[in-house]
Amino acid sequence: MATVQDSSHIVPIRLGRGLWQALTERCKRTGETPTHVISAALAEALDLEHHTIYQVSTSGALVEGVYQGCVRIADILRHGDFGLGTFDGLDGEGILLDGTCWQASSNGSVHQASPEAKAPFWVVTHFQPDQVHTFTGVRNWADLTSRIDDLRPSANVFTAIRIRGHFKQINYRVACKSDPGTDLVSATSHQAVFNMQQMDCSLVGFWTPTFARTINVPGYHLHLLSDDHAHGGHVLDLEADVLTVELHTENQLVLALPDTPAFLEADLSGDPSASLAQAGGNHS
Ligand SMILES: [Zn+2]
Repeated sequence: MATVQDSSHIVPIRLGRGLWQALTERCKRTGETPTHVISAALAEALDLEHHTIYQVSTSGALVEGVYQGCVRIADILRHGDFGLGTFDGLDGEGILLDGTCWQASSNGSVHQASPEAKAPFWVVTHFQPDQVHTFTGVRNWADLTSRIDDLRPSANVFTAIRIRGHFKQINYRVACKSDPGTDLVSATSHQAVFNMQQMDCSLVGFWTPTFARTINVPGYHLHLLSDDHAHGGHVLDLEADVLTVELHTENQLVLALPDTPAFLEADLSGDPSASLAQAGGNHS
């Protein structure tokens, strides 16, 4: 039996000749690394939903004020180790990083979310980067996102994004708890806005295709968690000298729709993208 070195996640295994040949041929043909091919195959065998986004509710429902928590954080964690979302009553911003779920509150504090906490909207995945890049001299949000635009394989698949590094400046907001039924634009009009300098952070989030605009926030959506777990929120703008940018292409989406009366009775027939852009903050 293979020995597993827990700290480094290295599994030394001996492959049979046939498997080895097939693996080599696959890597040659597609340009994938052996680690990627093996991880993907293992994730599928272990039912880990590799390349699958698991999402609770829709951005259109949020815009309509459907904020009532419907799924436990513990249940969301079964579907991913990485992602973003919010909490019952739009109470702050959620960050899921390396399997731990954090809640950033509008008073500026961050704490680990209770597994029993309920949430109205989350987007998660099992993050496994298929691209890793170093960006230097990142001037602002527009500069960062246009460089990621050049790396994304297509405008028609989802991309999970993890960014790590030291930020010279980072500007973010945290939604305030709101009464159910308050529409998203009104609810986020009194959000808390923060500006921090010289902070080590991870950013987690997604790029969503325009065609999915009634389901998720179209374009880039990133939440931050500082390395000391003291600060977190929804990213508006930033500046950094050196960043590690990792991308994970996602081509499957599992959508869990709430069975709450608020969701079942909401009118979700409209196009929420203008309201989402306004509520998301004007990225400068
Ligand atoms: Zn957000």
